[in-house]
Amino acid sequence: MKVLVINAGSSSLKYQLYDMTDETVLAKGLVERIGMDSSILTHKPTGKEEVTEVSEILEHTTAIRKVLEKLTDKEHGVLSSVDEIQAVGHRVVHGGETFKGSALVTPEVKAEIRRLFDLAPLHNPPAIMGINAAEVNMPAVPNVVAFDTAFHQTMEEKVYLYPIPKVLYKKHRIRRYGAHGTSHQYVSRVAAEFLNRPIEELKIITCHIGNGASLTAVKGGVSVDTSMGLTPLEGLMMGTRSGDLDPTVVTFVMNKEELSISEVNSMLNKHSGLLAISGSSSDMRDITDGWEAGKPNETLAFEMYEYRLRKYIGAYAAAMNGVDVIVFTAGVGENSAIVREKTCENLSYLGVELDKELNKVRSGEPRRISTPNSKVEVLVIPTNEELMIARDTLQIVQESK
Ligand code: ADP
Repeated sequence: MKVLVINAGSSSLKYQLYDMTDETVLAKGLVERIGMDSSILTHKPTGKEEVTEVSEILEHTTAIRKVLEKLTDKEHGVLSSVDEIQAVGHRVVHGGETFKGSALVTPEVKAEIRRLFDLAPLHNPPAIMGINAAEVNMPAVPNVVAFDTAFHQTMEEKVYLYPIPKVLYKKHRIRRYGAHGTSHQYVSRVAAEFLNRPIEELKIITCHIGNGASLTAVKGGVSVDTSMGLTPLEGLMMGTRSGDLDPTVVTFVMNKEELSISEVNSMLNKHSGLLAISGSSSDMRDITDGWEAGKPNETLAFEMYEYRLRKYIGAYAAAMNGVDVIVFTAGVGENSAIVREKTCENLSYLGVELDKELNKVRSGEPRRISTPNSKVEVLVIPTNEELMIARDTLQIVQESK
């Protein structure tokens, strides 16, 4: 069975085509600048040259049509016909409290995703555009939606509620939802498989640290706490996001600097984090380079980032009354040996012992970076949200037949 996975943003659309008989990627690519005058389609068939095409793509329906043309192209294609695609899986950021797992797209499901626009105004609308575009281009093909929030729906009320007037939860559903759920679920499962231990017995802390970053406490295979909240702003210090701060900072700054709601949102989401403290970059490569060169601003940014990450690991070890496995994943987690080393250095009280040489190895495969004596297994596991979505899509479509 061939499954197309789509991740639609407001002006971009990423895709991966899987052959689910052996879970191989047949092709992947990206459409950028949708709605602008020169849109760019980058298509990479596995084992063949990447191709780039510039054209006018005004909306998502045309974007998917162009992608399907590329997938069936004589020279750059991997399919003889679009009919070979048997299902489409879509990434959706917010599933609210309704979606506790992935779901087959129906008119009711679409209506519910629309109802959740309020909670993810930037992310859920393009997801609906992606679904509609797939339906127009492939009317006979079933669509499945996978939500970034779904994995965290197992959190208890005492964990997901904020200690603010309860009427706000009743009226507006203000609570912790979390994000990166597909990634946290995927890497926690791979960790258990890698260690050859039943996930039901394990207390795992998954650190998904990329541009956006979140930690999850996974106990017995389910999410019991996660660091992102109502929106992906809470929790860790990130590339351009502040993470945790005293909520009064927001009202204080709005008052003193005469900022509007959108200005303060922009400040906290786009002009904070590593970028704000270093004054130079949101990219961890630049930050660690600056730290190694002894630059004071980059050094402070690096130390704050690592300190906040380590505090959260400690918090989740406390939340689960222990930790068996720490997993590092995503851009920073998979690639930055120095972030992993410095974070683990001060986790010796948990019995964490890092093998510094293993930590430096780069492989693109799941691997252990702790010593045999370490009381906590420390693993690096490349995340694969698209594969997780493709697996869910296959399962749901097969069950619906
Ligand atoms: P996103 O959250 O956008 O999906 P990724 O998970 O791809 O992002 O992470 C991207 C980030 O990963 C980059 O901004 C950079 O900070 C970091 N990164 C990538 N490679 C390295 C590296 N070799 N060393 C340190 N950080 C890296």
